[in-house]
Amino acid sequence: MNDATRDWIGFAASLGGVAVETDPALVKQKSRDFYWYSPVLKRQLRSVTGDLVAMPRDEAEVIAVLRRCFAERVPVTARGGGTGNYGQAMPLHGGLVLDLSGLNAIHPVENGILRVGAGAKLGEIEAGCKPQGWELRMFPSTRRTATIGGFVGGGSGGVGSINFGQMREAGTLLAARVVTMEAEPRVLTLRGAEVNRVHHAYGTNGIITELEIAMAPAQHWVDYAVGFPDFMQIARFTEAVARADGIAKRLCTAVAAGAAAHFRSLGDAIAAGESVGLFLIAVQSKEPFEEMLRAHGGRVCRRLTEAEAEGQVPAFEFTWNHTTLLALKVDRSITYLQVRFPRTRPLDTVAAVIADYGDEVPMHLEFIRVDGEVACAALPLVRFTDEPRLRAIIADLEARGCTVFDPHTYVLEDGGMKQTDPAQLEFKHRADPRGLLNPGKMRGWDEHASAAQAANP
Ligand SMILES: Cc1cc2nc3c(=O)[nH]c(=O)nc-3n(C[C@H](O)[C@H](O)[C@H](O)COP(=O)(O)OP(=O)(O)OC[C@H]3O[C@@H](n4cnc5c(N)ncnc54)[C@H](O)[C@@H]3O)c2cc1C
Repeated sequence: MNDATRDWIGFAASLGGVAVETDPALVKQKSRDFYWYSPVLKRQLRSVTGDLVAMPRDEAEVIAVLRRCFAERVPVTARGGGTGNYGQAMPLHGGLVLDLSGLNAIHPVENGILRVGAGAKLGEIEAGCKPQGWELRMFPSTRRTATIGGFVGGGSGGVGSINFGQMREAGTLLAARVVTMEAEPRVLTLRGAEVNRVHHAYGTNGIITELEIAMAPAQHWVDYAVGFPDFMQIARFTEAVARADGIAKRLCTAVAAGAAAHFRSLGDAIAAGESVGLFLIAVQSKEPFEEMLRAHGGRVCRRLTEAEAEGQVPAFEFTWNHTTLLALKVDRSITYLQVRFPRTRPLDTVAAVIADYGDEVPMHLEFIRVDGEVACAALPLVRFTDEPRLRAIIADLEARGCTVFDPHTYVLEDGGMKQTDPAQLEFKHRADPRGLLNPGKMRGWDEHASAAQAANP
């Protein structure tokens, strides 16, 4: 769908001094994300590439680029670190990739609130705020390379979600500055619940340039890998830690032996056939955590203080979608699912799934908080055979009462709650009337556009 008739070099020159990249190989590189986790998307998106990349340094340059793109009807796909999983940041219709990593100002935290440029890396935010006594409430396991704008645009939660729920819940995302895609782009400030109009919208309805986020008081975290001979034992232990309100934690993960076997950088620390738990436990909760571990029949495989963790692979880089990445590095036939187990007695369903699928679906649980309650989320691995089998597994999990957030589609709604968010769609009508932002990702918009075309052929 790339426009080969356009003079892209000439168009790049018209962007008024904004830094650009036109080398096709480099443009292709910046048009990729981690879509290849999915064998389905790998086949569908392999040849997708933009036509050029623009790298604005500030909001004024973002506005200048969007103004030109609107005038010339050039599609624009926002990009942060490019670590998204579902082809979110891939320009299906070609056009301009807007690399926002230059908007990376990190302001001092005031009253627990951080104002930060959308392109700032999460790792740099955390490192910059710790000396001030603050840390991120939550971050994806891609903390080193992902940006805050990309996390808000395409992510959902991660390390810290056991305390603060997911980003969409009230109180973490406080405000966003958003540039619209119009003849004369406007800068809108969305506050409070309004931020959800652009949160997890894949950059389809506005470009975020700056965010205000609530921070958490910094703690000293002890980094744990623990081992159990049996997965259900570790699942019960991890759930118990997640529910133990007196134990201060940031991460509660349980990984079955079939998936933990790929944790090579833990070396001999874990024994063959051992299921592994990964935890970040506040230093004051170390003793009760280990007491609970012994009572459940587990053992400490690796324990690192913050100072000892320097230069080591941190526990969180074995969790969330890093678990999948480590397995994929060894076995290309592996893929994964994103599941929320039923609210009531989730581990009964986990046990039933393990009993029925065995090594075809090595289990991986992440405990988080949803609506104030501990919930059992999961990113189980799947030994992929073909798409009908994958779809059958998804249907079976849904029949057991699980919610599956399908990671094998680039369509926003199909990967989420299966329906268009009316607030996001309504905002797109106002902020992107020509539908030029990341086109092809929001089904609700495409349906509206086809209906409008049918009415006025
Ligand atoms: C190994 C691995 C582990 C992961 N773990 C997690 C996890 O724990 N939790 C989680 O939620 N996700 C996770 N992810 C997905 C992803 O890493 C995160 O969501 C990350 O925060 C995305 O940030 P990014 O800067 O790389 O965004 P990108 O991939 O560049 O962009 C993501 C989406 O946001 C849009 N976007 C980017 N910047 C802007 C902007 N300024 N304005 C508007 N839209 C924008 C893009 O168009 C795209 O649709 C993981 C992925 C991998 C590969």
